[in-house]
Amino acid sequence: MTSLTTDRIIIIGAGLGALYAALKLAPRPVVMISPETLGEGASSAWAQGGVAAAMDAADSPENHARDTVGAGAGTVDPKVADLVTREARDYILDLTSLGTPFDRTEDGAYVLSREAAHSFARVVRVKGDQAGAEIMGALIEQVRETPSIQVLEGSMATVLETTDGRVTGVAIQSADSARSGQIMLHGAAVLLAGGGSGGLYALTTNPPRIRGQVIGMAARAGAKISDAEFVQFHPTAMDVGEDPAPLATEALRGEGAILINKHGERFMTAIHPDAELAPRDVVARAIFAEVQAGNRPMLDTRKVLGERIKDLFPSVAEYCARNGIDPATQPIPVAPAAHYHMGGIATDTSGRASLDGLWVCGEASSTGLHGANRLASNGLLEALVYARICAEDIATHIPETTDAPQLNITYPEGGTAPDETAVATLRRVMTDHVGVVRHADGLKQALRILAQLEQDHGDSPSFLNMCATATLIAASALQREESRGAHERSDFPDALPGPGTRSHTYLTEARALRDQICKENA
Ligand SMILES: Cc1cc2nc3c(=O)[nH]c(=O)nc-3n(C[C@H](O)[C@H](O)[C@H](O)COP(=O)(O)OP(=O)(O)OC[C@H]3O[C@@H](n4cnc5c(N)ncnc54)[C@H](O)[C@@H]3O)c2cc1C
Repeated sequence: MTSLTTDRIIIIGAGLGALYAALKLAPRPVVMISPETLGEGASSAWAQGGVAAAMDAADSPENHARDTVGAGAGTVDPKVADLVTREARDYILDLTSLGTPFDRTEDGAYVLSREAAHSFARVVRVKGDQAGAEIMGALIEQVRETPSIQVLEGSMATVLETTDGRVTGVAIQSADSARSGQIMLHGAAVLLAGGGSGGLYALTTNPPRIRGQVIGMAARAGAKISDAEFVQFHPTAMDVGEDPAPLATEALRGEGAILINKHGERFMTAIHPDAELAPRDVVARAIFAEVQAGNRPMLDTRKVLGERIKDLFPSVAEYCARNGIDPATQPIPVAPAAHYHMGGIATDTSGRASLDGLWVCGEASSTGLHGANRLASNGLLEALVYARICAEDIATHIPETTDAPQLNITYPEGGTAPDETAVATLRRVMTDHVGVVRHADGLKQALRILAQLEQDHGDSPSFLNMCATATLIAASALQREESRGAHERSDFPDALPGPGTRSHTYLTEARALRDQICKENA
């Protein structure tokens, strides 16, 4: 494989974590590996709700941390919750100074939405449901004007090279060409900001390329993985047959929208005192039960929003319109869909992974902030906080340089793209057996199918990355013999007594469990 050496810091991904880290590293030279044109393909640009921060004078970072710990079902690291919530306000002010047009009241205060399991209205938003697109737009403008940042659009990473436990390089290739060969890039440091794993599921709200690739790449290189089993299913993805499923933001329920079924029954009031604003996992399971019973759950915004939904939530209104739904007169069909991976590459409070030379920020990481159930709108906040932390820590580990030539890359031919049928099978298996409600039989079946897929399609490094992350999720879910937060086991319906524990594993361990299960069946 051709290899190239650069003094630039290599950032894998181009979502909020990557962009913010690149800006915070300036003027240190950076090369950002972006599969798509900047702004496309990242969950960050699709965020509708906004960023959680205690901005109201009556609210406090302590309240925010308490809600974060509470939602996480006993597995949030309180030190991390404290670290992230304490600084949240500063990030909102920084994003504002970088050009994000947050919604304001007439007297200039930030408009704050209320979301599930928050004890205060504390989610800052932009034009109703445009937070992600607007924040990304503002940062992209800054990145385009920052000469230290080179963006390699149309490139993706597939493999981490290690030498004696230290990450020394990243194999990259064209993201568009099925026949692209790879180039090994050696840089000053490697920061992974490649997002989560939602797209490993057939039913997901995540952009098509967000398929656990970067987590899988780190796992294959030997990095420690934490809380892999904790996958959040968003309760109100729109059930309209689109892949990915468009989202009906939780802020709609914050405004008073209710959940009903085809019989017109409001089912959440009987399940939780906070009804539609119960924690996400509770609402997701209730909706899943209605789906399973054939009761067609729906989100009803008619009474509280009526025609106003079109101005207040333009994205949701547009998704409805293109599917022939008028939310002012019709309830919106919904179903739970894989949305956010609480687990990922184990990361310490300096943003470092277990392998030397490797930093991680954003959804690919597992910092301990989210536990078994992420508090709504803490995802963007975590990406910002750890992007800054990683940038500062990387800066202390590399020689100070502000000058590095731009990379000029032409990919050779000769690679293998993932087989689309195999990818579709993997995604179906994850939704059917590793989804909202899990059972040992289904999890074992998933592991057996994953082993077979990996064996049959092992010539594509991208597909191996997906298989690695899927295997880690299924094996960790099998090993957690309890129900906690978003991880629900029908064969172990209760939480184990005592405080919850986080899970930590390596791909070698998950594969060993998978091999054992395959042998049992042989
Ligand atoms: C529909 C939706 C709505 C959401 N709403 C909110 C919200 O309101 N508030 C909130 O806090 N959170 C929300 N979230 C979650 C939040 O958007 C994400 O957790 C956050 O954006 C993650 O940022 P990131 O930078 O880690 O990843 P992303 O923004 O997903 O970016 C990942 C980047 O990595 C790239 N990439 C992937 N694979 C590779 C590879 N192999 N090589 C190179 N690059 C790669 C992708 O193309 C992308 O550029 C939402 C998520 C979704 C899907």
